[in-house]
Amino acid sequence: MAFQNNEKEKRAAELAITKEKAEAANITKSQFLSNMAYEIRTPLNAIMGTMQLLDMTDLSEEQQDLIHISKTASDALLIVINGIHDYSKLEAGQLKLERVPFFLKDVLADTEKLFHLSLSEKKILFSTFIGSEVPNILIGDSFRLRQIISNLLGNATKFIKYVQITHSANLKEKSISNITKLHFSVEDTVIGISPEKFNLLFKSFSKVDSSNTRQYGGTGLGLAICKGLIEQMNGDIWLKSSVGQGSNFHFTCSFELPSNLTATKKLSAISTKYTSSKSAKILLVEDDIMNSKVISRYINKRG
Ligand code: ADP
Repeated sequence: MAFQNNEKEKRAAELAITKEKAEAANITKSQFLSNMAYEIRTPLNAIMGTMQLLDMTDLSEEQQDLIHISKTASDALLIVINGIHDYSKLEAGQLKLERVPFFLKDVLADTEKLFHLSLSEKKILFSTFIGSEVPNILIGDSFRLRQIISNLLGNATKFIKYVQITHSANLKEKSISNITKLHFSVEDTVIGISPEKFNLLFKSFSKVDSSNTRQYGGTGLGLAICKGLIEQMNGDIWLKSSVGQGSNFHFTCSFELPSNLTATKKLSAISTKYTSSKSAKILLVEDDIMNSKVISRYINKRG
């Protein structure tokens, strides 16, 4: 009996070591992927910037067409690389969120602007709603919040021709000390997803419908990244959907509230300065020589 117990303990210890090694190897792989994506992105930025500069010169129609193809292809490549970068950073536990004051209405308005062209081209009715109890100023990572909402809006606009999208922010929980939880939702009225596929959606590289993917592309990383970011913001993501009716993605996120007026004043000061300044001096800090050249030229071209 004692012998059997010893054997069991030995096996359990071996398993624990193997598990630890596998987890460490997975983190190393994620760090490698994240570094690689970063290294690929640097020259890609220079290529994309050069094409933008070329586009600002006198070009024949054929040259404009060629630039357009290159720009579309590099935009698509950048989306894939950014996806791999963010996902591997999240997996390696290295994605750090910012804690900066921001106006929520600006974030929602910015994301709406981002989709303005595709929404009006497709004649999509779009409405934004912010509940009256939602605080104006929050402290958190507005860039990542934009990324989550853009991904959900991107998916909603991707598959559809005529549709209505509503995205909204409401108070989820009354503030406990200086933390507030908000509830966001993005609703579309087209293709929908069948319930048995819900759990697949938030896993990396998953496509619920391969025919859609062939037609519309996508890495299958977007929702997995959203889930990872939302979890870092102490929130959840879930979905209500039925095939043919549309989908309603919901998520919650926690934010800090400014504890005194300092943040409010700072933020207002930044926006006043930004809107009232007629000329500005720009200090460019860039360690990559190619990118530095491209950005300098761009700044010069824009006066
Ligand atoms: P991708 O980059 O491929 O869009 P996502 O993780 O964002 O990756 O989405 C995964 C899959 O979920 C999509 O390929 C699509 O099949 C499905 N999906 C996501 N959002 C919607 C939606 N609003 N309506 C229908 N299907 C959706």
